[in-house]
Amino acid sequence: MSDIRPLYLNGRFVDPGGKPIEVVNPSTGGICGRVATVDRAGVRRAIDDAWKAFDGWRGRTAMERGQFLRKIADALEARVDEIARTITTENGKPLPQSRGELGMTIDHLRWFAEEGRRAYGRVVPNQAPGKRHLVIRTPVGPVGAIAPWNFPLVLAIRKAAPALAAGCPVLLKPASATPLCAVAFAEAVHEAGLPEGVFQLVAGSAREIAAEMTENPRCRKITFTGSTEVGRELMAAGAPFIKKLSLELGGQAPLLVFEDADLDAAVAGTLIAKFRNTGQSCVAANRVYVQEGIHDAFVERLVEKAAALPVGDGFTEGVEIGPLIDKAGLDAALAHIEQAVAGGATVRCGGKRWTGPNGEGANGFFLEPTVLTGVPAGARCLTEETFAPVAPVVPFATEAEAISLANDTEFGLAAYVFTRDVGRVWRLGERLEAGSIGINDAVPATSNCPFGGAKQSGLGRELGSEGLDAFLETKHLSFAGID
Ligand code: NAP
Repeated sequence: MSDIRPLYLNGRFVDPGGKPIEVVNPSTGGICGRVATVDRAGVRRAIDDAWKAFDGWRGRTAMERGQFLRKIADALEARVDEIARTITTENGKPLPQSRGELGMTIDHLRWFAEEGRRAYGRVVPNQAPGKRHLVIRTPVGPVGAIAPWNFPLVLAIRKAAPALAAGCPVLLKPASATPLCAVAFAEAVHEAGLPEGVFQLVAGSAREIAAEMTENPRCRKITFTGSTEVGRELMAAGAPFIKKLSLELGGQAPLLVFEDADLDAAVAGTLIAKFRNTGQSCVAANRVYVQEGIHDAFVERLVEKAAALPVGDGFTEGVEIGPLIDKAGLDAALAHIEQAVAGGATVRCGGKRWTGPNGEGANGFFLEPTVLTGVPAGARCLTEETFAPVAPVVPFATEAEAISLANDTEFGLAAYVFTRDVGRVWRLGERLEAGSIGINDAVPATSNCPFGGAKQSGLGRELGSEGLDAFLETKHLSFAGID
């Protein structure tokens, strides 16, 4: 029997016969699975099948669609341990964090199962005699969803759940580094009994799949999470077709700690905001700015805690820092550290590849949790997305300077503020250029509030009622002759 995990096309698990993706376990460097792929013609057929399924799916009540979403959530919940292990195997993240990702995935499904029922329109008072006006919301149509590897399941479902709730069929393309959990999701969809063509899993060449999604008029929208670079490419490719796009792109989040903050809470929050998911999060605190009066005390505590974070295989009990996704990710992070040090930065802890006391990590892509001080302005770790457990800490004097440093980037996904001054919270909330601002909160994302980027971090919002809006058209129905 073949060990190739199948795709899910038009209600069936199939191997369309393309060269399989070899999935690498980043803790060991070994192959941990193989997944089937589909070519561009296969994606075209999948879009045709989604198109055929569209009328039936949009014709169901939101209540019925919600019931399907709840069944998917139940099917995932029954397999939490197994699917969490799959995520840890292909992504490397510590097992408790994989379980957390599944928990949030299930919450997204259940939340949008309800929110689908609130795709309200409105009745607008007439200006002219005899007229009446309605505004209604209808599903945009088949959606192509392209997902990244860093939160391989939850970020895919942040797209699929609201699209399905809105009445849109979905074609999901997972990242090639992490397609195994997407196969498990397709199994849950199948178990939930969704009609054929309503959800499909396509994997293979990103360029081919994206080209078909972009150029095929029956694929009405693309929703993408990934790098700003690819987001730009998708916008350019979609321009001739005026392709509807939602883009969740790169981040470069500042984390600001003010002298009036609870220092222990700020250190604990920084550890989470920076080192969760091994720093490979779009909302990771990339730059830590600390007010001068508490800078040294903050650094001392942060270094003590960061240096103590256990590194290793995500299956090892107690591990908090797993591997980076691949060698390129590790090399890029080491290059950021090296460049900062060459410019005068001091490595306060970490700074090197981790291979383990007995060489157990020698084939994996591990980096020691790293804290840097004295980082020169303009260093790459302060201007680019490092996507690794590297925390550059920089002092600032005033609130105005902190705002200016925080906003000095083309990105605008997330920001974090540690302070107990209510007036400051308002000023920063209004002035920081970021889609999500955590105030004494290291994990702001939640199913019921919008998430997305300002500036070059993206277009549109996921989650919350805005997450459903992203898959709805707004239509005006105008009536005359009503005297
Ligand atoms: P990526 O290289 O842009 O890949 C993301 C997805 O796009 C993958 O499925 C990838 O497929 C596909 N892709 C690659 N090249 C493409 C192309 N030319 N056209 C269409 N699709 C293409 O990003 P990544 O390295 O996986 O993820 C890291 C980035 O995502 C970071 O910048 C991070 O900040 C960002 N991110 C943003 C958010 C957010 O919500 N704003 C969340 C998480 C991550 P293959 O895997 O097959 O190449």
